Amino acid sequence: MIDFGFTPFAAGVTDLDKANLSLAKQITEHEPSFNLCISCGSCSATCTAGQFTKFSFRVMCHQIRKGNTTLAIEEASKCMLCGKCTLICPRNVNTRNIIRLVRKAQTTTP
Ligand code: SF4
Ligand code: SF4
Repeated sequence: MIDFGFTPFAAGVTDLDKANLSLAKQITEHEPSFNLCISCGSCSATCTAGQFTKFSFRVMCHQIRKGNTTLAIEEASKCMLCGKCTLICPRNVNTRNIIRLVRKAQTTTP
């Protein structure tokens, strides 16, 4: 490997081989549009809940993909289900259904 003179910050590294990706898999099965997200951030920019809290749909999706299930479930509880993100999303991601599935996981995740 080429030595670029720096290494990744350890705390920012996620080993996806060891991560618990069950929630991501579950969401993809029930809502395939989860995989269409390009992380553009339009949803977060228009988010009603984001005006009152630090909630970001985009960041929540990253947490799910990194296997941070507990964090994602906590974040999903902040969504007000207003639907603005669904209207603005350039990829037609069914955002509210993803929120619903994450909240549902709250009752099934140990
Ligand atoms: S607006 Fe859509 S594509 Fe963009 S980050 Fe949000 S969910 Fe992903
Ligand atoms: S539905 Fe939830 S995530 Fe989407 S804009 Fe409204 S509060 Fe934000």
